[in-house]
Amino acid sequence: MRVLVTGGAGYIGSVVIEALLDAGHDVVAFDDLSTGHRDAVVAPARLVEGDLLDARAVTAALRTHRIEAVVHMAARSLVGDSVADPAGYYRANVTAGLTLLEAVRAAEVGRLVFSSSAAVYGEPASQPIDEGDPPLPKNPYGDTKLAFERALRWYHTAYRLRSTSLRYFNAAGATGRSGERHARETHLVPLVLQAAAGTREAITIYGDDYPTPDGTCLRDYVHVSDLALAHVQALDALARVDGAEVYNLGLGGAGTSVREVIDVARRVTGREIAVRVAPRRRGDPARLVASTERIRLALGWAPRHPALEEIVESAWRWMRGSRDMGGARRTPQPPHAPRPE
Ligand code: UDP
Repeated sequence: MRVLVTGGAGYIGSVVIEALLDAGHDVVAFDDLSTGHRDAVVAPARLVEGDLLDARAVTAALRTHRIEAVVHMAARSLVGDSVADPAGYYRANVTAGLTLLEAVRAAEVGRLVFSSSAAVYGEPASQPIDEGDPPLPKNPYGDTKLAFERALRWYHTAYRLRSTSLRYFNAAGATGRSGERHARETHLVPLVLQAAAGTREAITIYGDDYPTPDGTCLRDYVHVSDLALAHVQALDALARVDGAEVYNLGLGGAGTSVREVIDVARRVTGREIAVRVAPRRRGDPARLVASTERIRLALGWAPRHPALEEIVESAWRWMRGSRDMGGARRTPQPPHAPRPE
């Protein structure tokens, strides 16, 4: 299938493109390179550099490349940022999303997979979180993701656009080719590994007074390759299933604490990791763990790298490949570099 991946030059986008290529799809990335990297787009996928708010450019990309399905991953995704700049988040995640949907209608593309987030749930009372639990986002980021999911539901009813929204829990890890390299890193796994590498003095634990076994927050970490696999399977399923589906994308279980991540990183790297405990970060729920029955049953999704060791080790390998150990890796150009347009 010919697939357009918005946000394809980002961390998760580049891994999803790898998985789509492996599955035999033709891929075009659409990205404004505001946070992504040109060299993250895996060849032979092509990069169209453009702004999703530019309806004509998006429609032209869909038509020129005769796109049959869209994976919509382009977004702003930092919770704290979204509280400070809701206007920017609604513009990037909702207005641009709806512009994309207009282009999708105009170009008669019938299938779409959407990167949603566990942030749509807010702070649910019961865990693990089920897709049937009421979504009550606690920040603009989660609200923008929910708004787009809701639009998808109505677009299916009215225009028969088939879609799957994947509510990500905590993506981490790397492939041999692609990994996390944010200019401003906020995520736990890369920050812990920077502390192990010595490019960061210590890892700060945001709160150790939560009602959890060791007092630190519990999260559901998924290997980014497993996350990517779910997109490929969701796309395949849209050939059979006429609907607007929503699935959690996490491993389930008891969840992993911040301290457990640090301990695993110490084992994997064989390095000392200094720890500082700071007050809680605003808006952090004590526990966010997915119920994963729905995606396993509906898509047959089964994670191939469920062990936290594997996730952390892959991220460490990726980071060690970088020049400065800070994650700002310069990836060598593949033999067939992506063709910018
Ligand atoms: N965290 C932490 N120190 C950091 C970054 C994150 O203690 O420097 C904690 C954070 O409070 C949360 C967990 O690690 O409980 C995962 O945070 P991350 O930002 O990676 O993902 P989130 O769950 O917020 O999407």
